[in-house]
Amino acid sequence: MDTTRFDYDLFVIGAGSGGVRAARIAAGHGARVAIAEEYRVGGTCVVRGCIPKKLLVYASQFSQHFEESRGFGWTPGAARFDWADLIARKDREIDRLNRIYIRNLETSGVEIFKTRARLADDHTVDLEAAGRAVTAATILIATGAWPFVPEFPGAEHAITSNEAFHLDSLPGHITIVGGGYIAVEFAGIFNGLGARTALLYRGPEILRGFDDDLRSGLHEEMAKKGVDVRVMTEIAALEQRDGGYLARLATGDALETGLVMYATGRKPNTAGLGLENAGVELGDFGKVVVDQHSRSSVPHIYAVGDVTDRAALTPVAIREGHAFADTVFGTRPTAVDYANIPSAVFSQPEIGTVGLTEAEARDRFADVDIYKSRFRPLKHTLSGLGELMMMKLVVDAASGRVVGCHILGPDAGEMAQLVAISLKLGATKSDFDATIALHPSSAEELVTMHEKWQPPSSSPAAAAG
Ligand SMILES: Cc1cc2nc3c(=O)[nH]c(=O)nc-3n(C[C@H](O)[C@H](O)[C@H](O)COP(=O)(O)OP(=O)(O)OC[C@H]3O[C@@H](n4cnc5c(N)ncnc54)[C@H](O)[C@@H]3O)c2cc1C
Repeated sequence: MDTTRFDYDLFVIGAGSGGVRAARIAAGHGARVAIAEEYRVGGTCVVRGCIPKKLLVYASQFSQHFEESRGFGWTPGAARFDWADLIARKDREIDRLNRIYIRNLETSGVEIFKTRARLADDHTVDLEAAGRAVTAATILIATGAWPFVPEFPGAEHAITSNEAFHLDSLPGHITIVGGGYIAVEFAGIFNGLGARTALLYRGPEILRGFDDDLRSGLHEEMAKKGVDVRVMTEIAALEQRDGGYLARLATGDALETGLVMYATGRKPNTAGLGLENAGVELGDFGKVVVDQHSRSSVPHIYAVGDVTDRAALTPVAIREGHAFADTVFGTRPTAVDYANIPSAVFSQPEIGTVGLTEAEARDRFADVDIYKSRFRPLKHTLSGLGELMMMKLVVDAASGRVVGCHILGPDAGEMAQLVAISLKLGATKSDFDATIALHPSSAEELVTMHEKWQPPSSSPAAAAG
């Protein structure tokens, strides 16, 4: 294709995790690149996702740390928490990251348009704020996803995670609806910061899609920390009442609450994008249908990240953006490998997981061995906290390969990142067994589970002592 007749070689719509990476790498390969962003450069992860969320998780953990310190000889003073101060500090950090993202794009030679963009046809992008259109040989859709709130009477009163990051004050009571990772993370955040917290989920158990032991284990531990976890229920109607709300539940119960937050999933952000003008095929929930190289049904239009609804995680969007740029502008066709993607849920306690759940493994392999341990981490022998840690290895019995690892407890996410390397390398249970333990740690349990499924034990430190 003669690309010189277009204004740009590549136009990227959406400056989030996937779009920014794709733009920078394509520019590095020598392409003339522009990017449009309608809100803030950095996208969901930086502005209203992973980063601000984890900062709030850190903030919310201090209440437990203060309590735990008593078991170690401390008498903590009267602690006071200031929501407005936390939000201001969080916002300053997001501003800093936003500036870094802008600078990185600029130094890569990418032209930034601060506007909503939509396709006029398969090579033309309308830039709303600029009131003009530009053309590009290749277009990348990287518009992410948007929180989905189901329709019910009073739904307009509910907030989503987008607004949760900007509340004027901490509610005295909050009801979070949803059973996914964002719902359980925010339940932990608000509970830890001192809001009475209810979590409502319409299914039989929270965290659908995760290993069953993680699901039931987290449910139990959250309840121990005071979160009012209710499954098999949802809000039928929401009414405003004296500065708060009355949630009428499908079960017939009613719940008085100060605020209702919906975390019931996110849908690909394709509405109003003009994709029909270009003939781009959309799939379930409006996702852009793509092949292994992120190419849509229109050969010169690609899509990466949450808008394709493959694995809605930041590192995946980044990897897809990078692979796209290498494939199209770097003459190095690259497909993303979706096996063994580690992920964390920054719930309290935390989850780290990689590979197949026990149920998935039983579907895939004839014979599966499970190694599982539930124990009190050493710290909690003095902290007085009754929290238990859970570790589980899922093994394909025929090959001996560890095909899944699931951890519930402190630092589970950090551990899952490292275990993911072993799984990627095809490590067997014997390789885990042959690895000498690091003592005293919780992670040593991963290499000392010799018996197929074992009942709850005491701390690994005590056991090893
Ligand atoms: C509360 C929350 C917590 C999360 N926590 C984690 C986590 O801990 N770990 C993790 O890996 N992932 C997490 N995620 C998911 C992660 O944020 C996404 O997977 C990631 O941001 C996807 O990147 P993306 O490039 O596809 O889209 P995004 O980062 O969403 O970027 C899309 C961008 O496109 C812009 N845009 C949309 N339409 C247009 C248009 N028409 N014109 C111009 N601009 C447009 C949007 O404003 C946005 O900036 C979290 C998400 C949320 C909501």
